[in-house]
Amino acid sequence: MRIKTDFLVVGSGAGGATVAMELAKRGKKVLIVDRGGIANGKDIGTLKSAVFGFYDKCALRTSTEGIIVYRALMAGGTTVVSCGNGVRVLEEELKLRGVSLENEFLETERELGIAPLRSDRIGPGSRLIMDAANRLGLEMLPMPKFIDAAKCVSCGNCILGCKTGAKWSALDFVKKARRSGAKFIRKIDVRSVAVRGGRAIGVVAKSPKGTVRIYADKVILAAGGIGTPVILKRSGIANAGNKLFADLFNVTYGVSKQKEVDQWKEVSMSTLSTKFMKDKGFIISPFIDVPLVLRWVTSKRKQLQGFRYKNLLGIMAKTRDDDIGKVTEREIFEKTLSAGDHERLREGQSVARNILLEAGVEEDDIFFTKPRAAHPGGSAAIGDVVGSNLETDIKGLYICDASVLPVSPGAPPIVTIVALAKRLAGAIS
Ligand SMILES: Cc1cc2nc3c(=O)[nH]c(=O)nc-3n(C[C@H](O)[C@H](O)[C@H](O)COP(=O)(O)OP(=O)(O)OC[C@H]3O[C@@H](n4cnc5c(N)ncnc54)[C@H](O)[C@@H]3O)c2cc1C
Repeated sequence: MRIKTDFLVVGSGAGGATVAMELAKRGKKVLIVDRGGIANGKDIGTLKSAVFGFYDKCALRTSTEGIIVYRALMAGGTTVVSCGNGVRVLEEELKLRGVSLENEFLETERELGIAPLRSDRIGPGSRLIMDAANRLGLEMLPMPKFIDAAKCVSCGNCILGCKTGAKWSALDFVKKARRSGAKFIRKIDVRSVAVRGGRAIGVVAKSPKGTVRIYADKVILAAGGIGTPVILKRSGIANAGNKLFADLFNVTYGVSKQKEVDQWKEVSMSTLSTKFMKDKGFIISPFIDVPLVLRWVTSKRKQLQGFRYKNLLGIMAKTRDDDIGKVTEREIFEKTLSAGDHERLREGQSVARNILLEAGVEEDDIFFTKPRAAHPGGSAAIGDVVGSNLETDIKGLYICDASVLPVSPGAPPIVTIVALAKRLAGAIS
């Protein structure tokens, strides 16, 4: 099968959906393709559909060293399972590389309706944690969210997809792009970029019906921090896939003496402390894994015996990890933890533990998860694989997703990726 378009966008997540929507709004002929399927209605918001439907390898995708790195392969990308956190990251780091996003940040924040989580949506568990953190001087505040508090029912299932539509996801932008005339084809797995005379002329992909060749004047890869470098490597860009980071995190749990705080039914990551971001490279935020996942990821399983979910308090320490990972052409990735990574995780865990003790949890009732990650990026970074205009050495081939981020943000990157995509659309349309 052969298809022809002007702008081809590969991937419909944070970067892809945004650039496609912006180009379509400007009247351009746009085709979006994604290797995932679509999930909506009853498919969204359940553990079964998330694990068996759209998380990569049932949410057990690991690096060669066994670190789980989460991503969703579906229309809307990983934004569908996000916690709705909307913060600016890497503003200064990008400016230093010639990328100023001030206007795009403002536009993104307006469009996604970003505001600190409404006070009545911060549940008792998160409040216990916030109060304890603030007594320790950690300046914990409501998290800026792209969640409409009026529609949110505090089910605690943000990371399984939002049943009520309260949370923005890139699917909203895919819909807007389509309303402006963009075409969207699912289940198209792009394998490589077709290049002629140093210029991208399209891609070669696999579909359920066989090989597809899509021709385009401009190709924008937005397949995410793991997907994009794979396509680049298969297309002859050898230095793609290096310098992978993933924003390693761990969660510290404590069993509260207070009855039935039910933090697991609260908005995930509803408050935030950035007190240690600048000097120590981590943020702190209340978080509880969905029950089944908790059993998979905790290192001290015996402490799970007999504990009551309703009494559980959980705190995530998300860190800025070293960019020493690698993605291979076969979509395998390495993520060795450096001494610095171990140190940041250990320090984050120690802060979380102190908050739990302050909240009245006893030492023996505290346990930790193994490190995991949810923000793979840096694998086609600005300054290495693309210039500040996000173009590769292959003319007409652009990258627009987490892979272009120059260093690990150690904090939620969606707002920055959306802002980058808006800037790119403005520049190439
Ligand atoms: C559980 C969880 C919670 C998170 N919460 C937040 C949060 O609250 N706030 C925040 O800022 N960040 C959050 N993140 C991170 C954020 O979701 C990602 O960093 C962001 O979505 C990355 O955007 P992207 O465009 O790079 O990739 P994605 O959004 O992952 O999109 C990539 C798309 O490319 C498609 N694709 C991949 N390979 C191919 C291929 N070969 N051919 C065609 N299509 C392909 C995928 O199916 C996918 O749709 C969270 C992540 C996880 C896992």
